[in-house]
Amino acid sequence: MHGKYAERAKLTRHSETREILKVTEHPEVISFAGGLPAAELFPVEELRIACDAVLKTDGAASLQYSTTEGYLPLRNEIVKRMDTIGIKANPQQTLITSGSQQAIDLLGKLFLDEGDTIICESPTYLAAINSFKVYKANFVEVEMDEDGMLMEALEEKLQKNSKAKFIYTVPDFQNPTGRTLKLERRKRMVELASQYDCLIIEDNPYGAVRFSGTPLPPVKHFDMDGRVIYLSTFSKIFAPGLRLGWICADNIIIEKLVAFKQIADLHSDSFSQRITAKYLELYDIENHIKKIRVVYKERCKTMLESIDRFFPDNISYSKPEGGLFIWVELPTFMDSSKIFMECMQHDVAIVPGISFFPNSTKTNTLRLNYSNTNSETIIEGIKRIGEVLNRELQKYNRINKVI
Ligand code: PMP
Repeated sequence: MHGKYAERAKLTRHSETREILKVTEHPEVISFAGGLPAAELFPVEELRIACDAVLKTDGAASLQYSTTEGYLPLRNEIVKRMDTIGIKANPQQTLITSGSQQAIDLLGKLFLDEGDTIICESPTYLAAINSFKVYKANFVEVEMDEDGMLMEALEEKLQKNSKAKFIYTVPDFQNPTGRTLKLERRKRMVELASQYDCLIIEDNPYGAVRFSGTPLPPVKHFDMDGRVIYLSTFSKIFAPGLRLGWICADNIIIEKLVAFKQIADLHSDSFSQRITAKYLELYDIENHIKKIRVVYKERCKTMLESIDRFFPDNISYSKPEGGLFIWVELPTFMDSSKIFMECMQHDVAIVPGISFFPNSTKTNTLRLNYSNTNSETIIEGIKRIGEVLNRELQKYNRINKVI
């Protein structure tokens, strides 16, 4: 069997996060490992009503094959939503995808040849790394601070890699760090991409889940020459199981992506698209998103306060204004993969940060998710991690004193 696999099969790593999620599925484990939205907030009853309405009025059409570009009324709604955040587009510039994960994969197919260079934040979204690696791309990581990618560092990397195909960025409440690219840097990123003739893929699943601070226009808002390809999704504001995301880009790019999508799956789920469009017609999704924001704000606050209370002092962490994640930096002598194993002994799960660095360098970071755990359990879970970290610290201090 082994000899039959294509070369690229060697490049597909099992996603570490998925492997970790399997271990953490046991009910006794408090899991901060996944990136799951709070399931209790899914608008189940409203979706039942929308579903009924679709089956009554468009039953056959919703179960039939449909166009690759996506259901037009849904694309119209997406265009309206994008307009409210400063993106001017028309439905022809919008392609519905099976989650934004498919958008990432299609963009890899469209733009990447073996050995091509991608510029990205350090760290960056794990499943984008895994997706682009299949196309044998090289990653150039750009350092970040609490306000996102550093523009001087980006310029230096663009100078050194003049043939880089695109900058892949998650500017809002980034996965994994929870950090947000500040306004001036958004403008600057577009200027630099223009100056060095590079594309930008702006992956924005979390922008609408802002629970404090001031909303920022997307990077695409500053795009004057069609070099920003914008991705978003219904996964974090609605329901990830529906698998609905979208790409907004220039018509020519969309046409090419449509051809690749046709090869991949003909079109995204017709039924999901119609149910979602019906929901948007019958209800105000903004009211729903407001509820998500309230709950995530509370959970994030509880997690930050618990970290402050239970973690050792020499540990730093991000303070997100939205999204799903907190990023923790441990002292450099600590290895978060070992911390993960130790935490699992105490039935609490984290994700070691190493997987989020495409060139795998930093071992002292970890990601925590707060969206899918209630406040009481967050306090207990963080307390347990704090005990593990304090024990590790004491061990290190003892050894160093002896030496
Ligand atoms: N991009 C980023 C940055 C993500 O965090 C995720 C999901 N965790 C995705 C894309 C994919 O989301 P989906 O396919 O559910 O739209």
